[in-house]
Amino acid sequence: MIRVEKLNKSFGDLHVLYDIDLKVNESDVVVLIGASGSGKSTLLRCLNFLEFKDDGKIIIEGEQVEADTHDLNKVRQKVGMVFQHFNLFPHKTVLGNVIEAPIQVKGLSKKEAIKEGKRLLDKVGLGDKYDVYPSRLSGGQKQRVAIARALAMQPDIMLFDEPTSALDPELVGEVLETMKELGEEGMTMVVVTHEMGFAREVGDWVVYMNEGRIVEEGKPDQIFDQPKEERTKAFLDSIL
Ligand code: ATP
Ligand code: MG
Repeated sequence: MIRVEKLNKSFGDLHVLYDIDLKVNESDVVVLIGASGSGKSTLLRCLNFLEFKDDGKIIIEGEQVEADTHDLNKVRQKVGMVFQHFNLFPHKTVLGNVIEAPIQVKGLSKKEAIKEGKRLLDKVGLGDKYDVYPSRLSGGQKQRVAIARALAMQPDIMLFDEPTSALDPELVGEVLETMKELGEEGMTMVVVTHEMGFAREVGDWVVYMNEGRIVEEGKPDQIFDQPKEERTKAFLDSIL
């Protein structure tokens, strides 16, 4: 569970997040939508402490987390993240990518890490790719490795920042399917995406951001069919 209260963030003179309040309950899939530059990535990065908020509260699994008093590596173990560009280690095999952090950061034995890594790769449909190098994979396969790698840290929450927007259109479906299964298994997820079909089908909640503020949030059907705010309606008209 994540709770954000009155979170503000600036880059120099540029104020990019204003008084963000957000609650992500256990097993919820929250889809974050909004125009380019509205602050979606910055919000996710603050949740994972890749960026530091200026003020406000971030409460993860009941604990208020502050950068100067908490071990951020531990926090990042709880909050996994998948990016638009997969950031795989090019000189490691698929399985090597997945077992690296569990061994180095979590202290798993190599044997345990391999067993769990194979299980996760099987789960994302890459049971035949353990020993392949990333350069030999399609974008959709690379992204599924990135998902397995994040899951290998046994996170409580997964953040996805436009995980399919760098993919060729025919590869988008396989990654969304993997994410859908994860959601159905009860993973708590915050997903930034322009895939409105996914938002409607898999999202428990949709949050619309504009210029650093949450404008509207609700169930997918309400947001898509009966948006309350003019700005939400205009945004949806512009993309659908
Ligand atoms: P997109 O849909 O294009 O990914 P976004 O909603 O994810 O957009 P952010 O990347 O969070 O938007 O950016 C919000 C604002 O913060 C933008 O004006 C952006 O230029 C600015 N910004 C983001 N990262 C930095 C940074 N490291 N330094 C300075 N400004 C930044
Ligand atoms: Mg972004």
